[in-house]
Amino acid sequence: MAPTQHKEVHSDGLSASPTTPARTAAQGRRAHAGLIQRDVYCNNRHHLVGSMKITAVRVANPRWVNAYGSQKHRYKSDAEKMELVIRLAKENVLHRTGGPFGAAIFRREDGRLISVGVNNVQRCNNSVLHAEIVAIMLAQHSLCSFTLDVKDTATYELISSCEPCAMCLGALVWSGVRRLVCGATRHDATRIGFEEGPVFPESYRYVKNRGIEFVRRVSHKQARAVLDLYASRGGVIYNGLRQSCVKLRKSFG
Ligand SMILES: [Zn+2]
Repeated sequence: MAPTQHKEVHSDGLSASPTTPARTAAQGRRAHAGLIQRDVYCNNRHHLVGSMKITAVRVANPRWVNAYGSQKHRYKSDAEKMELVIRLAKENVLHRTGGPFGAAIFRREDGRLISVGVNNVQRCNNSVLHAEIVAIMLAQHSLCSFTLDVKDTATYELISSCEPCAMCLGALVWSGVRRLVCGATRHDATRIGFEEGPVFPESYRYVKNRGIEFVRRVSHKQARAVLDLYASRGGVIYNGLRQSCVKLRKSFG
């Protein structure tokens, strides 16, 4: 499918010619001040915002995700749950719909799948749409609850193909999830150029003291392989460390 041509729309509602790199200084200042609003791409749909302020953002996985995971099936082990999120991460790479990360929320008592998420940062032009965030958002929406900490009825766990960045670790605490299970490590992500932000050993001690169980390196080799696949296909490192990006280019030619 040919990429949709990107236009800018000025605050007076007049559509400018297709964006060129040679934007004038005045245009740059207006854009910085929010006077030029860009088209919003999400879920492969093109919304022309025009001169109206944006009042809503749609959060949705790519459509192919619907073919993966079953809410009728009961997932019995961490390995089985991890197999699903690693598959989601890999398919996200193969479909070129985002970064190499997948996540899911399960009900611990019976292994029921509540929601899944893949990384949607580039596709939705949204820096916060990491796989974990998407899975948490969809689970809370599905359960009509702003928290998953509903001990009287059920406990919920987050399974992630990679250890969370600083943002996702923070979101995890507020989400009400009681257990975190990860595949690839933070080191695996930084090795291919991603930055994971300020996550320290103290961060995990805090999470543990909040009563959240943390299990690492489940199906680690398979989870790490998805990151390497993404790097080998030239995937965009959208929040990478400059130094790490240089290492990546050297490693993968
Ligand atoms: Zn994250």
